[in-house]
Amino acid sequence: MKILFCSSEVVPYAKTGGLADVSHSLPLALSRLGQQVEVVTPRYRQTDIRKFGLTKVKDGLYRGCLAQGVGAYLIDNKELFGRQGLYGTRQGDYEDNLERFSFFCRRSIELMKEADFRPDLVHCNDWQSAPIIIYLKSEYKNDPFYKGIKTVFTIHNLGFQGIFGDLNLLKDGITLSDVVNTVSPTYAREILTKDLGFGLEDVLNKRKESLFGVLNGIDYGIWDPAADSLIVKKYSRQDLKNKYENKRHLIKICSLKAGADAPLLGMVSRLTSQKGMDILIPALDEAGKWDAGIVILGQGEAKYHGELRKLARKYKGKISVHFKFDESLAHKIYAGSDIFLMPSRYEPCGLSQMISLKYGAMPLVFKTGGLADTVTLENGFVFVDYSKEALLKAMLRACSAHKDKDHWLTLVRKGMLCDFSWEKSAAEYIKLYQRAVNG
Ligand code: ADP
Repeated sequence: MKILFCSSEVVPYAKTGGLADVSHSLPLALSRLGQQVEVVTPRYRQTDIRKFGLTKVKDGLYRGCLAQGVGAYLIDNKELFGRQGLYGTRQGDYEDNLERFSFFCRRSIELMKEADFRPDLVHCNDWQSAPIIIYLKSEYKNDPFYKGIKTVFTIHNLGFQGIFGDLNLLKDGITLSDVVNTVSPTYAREILTKDLGFGLEDVLNKRKESLFGVLNGIDYGIWDPAADSLIVKKYSRQDLKNKYENKRHLIKICSLKAGADAPLLGMVSRLTSQKGMDILIPALDEAGKWDAGIVILGQGEAKYHGELRKLARKYKGKISVHFKFDESLAHKIYAGSDIFLMPSRYEPCGLSQMISLKYGAMPLVFKTGGLADTVTLENGFVFVDYSKEALLKAMLRACSAHKDKDHWLTLVRKGMLCDFSWEKSAAEYIKLYQRAVNG
């Protein structure tokens, strides 16, 4: 099948979160399964032409290669995309986001003709690429070139809908696409409820017959402690000694006073209410008194930055926070932590818990969405009541389990065996594509 995969962020060109990881690793996995995939994404300021070996096709268009067999088109427009952020600044979203992503989508459609790439199907992701579906169903519908091209729409997070006045792009993507899916089976059920449907539960219920949940995977070519050049010492399940070199290094660079035997709790996350900040912050105010180290890397809402900064001052040497996007430090936190914190209020899939398992940092999660589908009592710590108290109890359970070194090592080794590679899920996507194409 010929597939055009459209996404507003793609590793390695630009990333704010899991969408970028998926938009890199899924096309690769699809290609390994014999599909012909082209990726299209905007070229932002951070997308360095030389670093990523991009070539200019013509004004406004660059060509790159994600891997053998998977090409990428980068839509260039300095005025619209040549900015520091992808979607906005800390003050909020860019005011012209509708114009920016409508432009991206229109160019993506025209590109098919220019490049003479007529896909069987366009795979759109989140509200930023939803206009493609709208345009194909309206303005371009009588153009013979585009006739019959099917669409699959993936919801990566229902919390971001692209609302501009009366227009709700996510909603239009859901309504107009041939097949809709989200990124884990549990989240696919949760979004049909009032609690997690973000006001679109009725719209989603109407499409229940063509709404699916496909669990994301991770790319072990990027996320593997045995081959990771961003960590201090590579290690594997068989040889965990070096994991503790990484822990010592993390303790040092974060100026923590915790001893090497004390549990080290790490977190790499957007700092938003979705990610559980409202219960985590008060919990940290207790955990800061424990014999443990805590390292947090992330960016997000200003109020959480302020509260975390206060905690880091209050528990100096115990809690270390870093407000930035830093790929290298993220890898070091996965490698150096014993326990990985992910108390998300809701989580469509979550990749960080899968990454942390591979790095032997046991995930501690709230039982929701993709976290419920990937973390159990067998490979981590789970709490089922969304409250500070339940979170603290789980943190205590994890820290006390960590004291029994032999038992802990067994747990870590078991966790590192978990396999969230893409092959199985990519095969499920192919089934969705076939469903869309065969009507
Ligand atoms: P989401 O997409 O909701 O932000 P995911 O768990 O699906 O959450 O994916 C998050 C991805 O972004 C992971 O690869 C994680 O390592 C990365 N990430 C998040 N925050 C940062 C940061 N501040 N610096 C580096 N990487 C980050």
